[in-house]
Amino acid sequence: MARKHEITTPEELQDDGQAELSLRPQRLAEFIGQAKVKEFLSIAIQAALQRREPLDHLLFHGPPGLGKTTLAALMAREMGVNLKTTSGPVLEKPADLVGILTSQREGDILFIDEIHRLRPIIEEFLYPAMEDFKVEIRLSEGPRAQTMTLKIERFTLVGATTRFGLLTAPMRARFGIVQRLNYYPPEDLALIIRRSADILGIKATEEGAMELARRARGTPRVANRLLRRVRDYAQVRARGVIDQEVAREALALLDVDEYGLDEMDARILKTIIEKFDGGPVGLNSLAVALGEDTSTLEEVYEPFLIQEGFLVRTPRGREATPRAFRHLGYVKPSGPAGSQPTLFGE
Ligand code: ADP
Repeated sequence: MARKHEITTPEELQDDGQAELSLRPQRLAEFIGQAKVKEFLSIAIQAALQRREPLDHLLFHGPPGLGKTTLAALMAREMGVNLKTTSGPVLEKPADLVGILTSQREGDILFIDEIHRLRPIIEEFLYPAMEDFKVEIRLSEGPRAQTMTLKIERFTLVGATTRFGLLTAPMRARFGIVQRLNYYPPEDLALIIRRSADILGIKATEEGAMELARRARGTPRVANRLLRRVRDYAQVRARGVIDQEVAREALALLDVDEYGLDEMDARILKTIIEKFDGGPVGLNSLAVALGEDTSTLEEVYEPFLIQEGFLVRTPRGREATPRAFRHLGYVKPSGPAGSQPTLFGE
């Protein structure tokens, strides 16, 4: 049984892989929400198709599970080109990319996930490939190594990162298009859930879908995961229909957090409350206490907590809100030094 807060993590869990494949939208029109990003991409795609040119190199950034990989695959399909997928941490040496780059046809898409984790040596190798469509191949080792320059077809690199701030400036500069994905409102998540339910052959009423959507941490990956877990319950206890009541019962049984907080969210808030009296606490001290780096906190976790009103950023640091105290079962001590009582008068 999943521990409380684990089920709503936006990161991919072990049993997500296969299930996610079948739920991936295949065309841009099936991709729900993110209207601005979609419109932008659809124009870029049409323009490139009309000019018979490859798309500009493109970077997606935003928290995990919001559809970056899905969009890369959609774009390849819309453009009618091949897609190769790899990720920053698996690329060890330039040779790992040579085969892919030299065998690509014009306009093909190379998708690199977690592009902020590319080794410097791979980045160096990619720059001329992205800019001038050529790669430098070393023919021997050592300081006087011979190299050979090869022309490659004009391709499109689609990069994805959860950590825009960690991407090097030269890498950022080489993307013609940069698009940020944001958390989905519950209404969009409910649509995604109903679409997924259709594919999985389950019935979910509007209210049932909405109940799951509200706890999905703004994240389609989590929404689909909740649906899959609730499905068994619905099948056994409710003749396969997920309505609001069934959703509530199943979520209670699964111990899903009422606001969709995941383990890390809860740990961040508890740390601020327990170790720093609710804050304000500086980002650095908080990061040290959590054993995380500051940019992960800032880019991956805080946006959700702030949006949901569990955390505020003040000039003096991060503070847990009364909502965070209440939700995690703490009583806010009255007036710790320096706090502004009005802030807590919710
Ligand atoms: P990321 O690459 O940002 O971590 P993915 O593209 O892997 O996220 O998406 C995770 C899952 O969520 C996929 O299985 C996909 O089916 C689903 N998903 C993401 N965005 C959407 C969307 N806008 N509409 C429908 N399903 C989506």
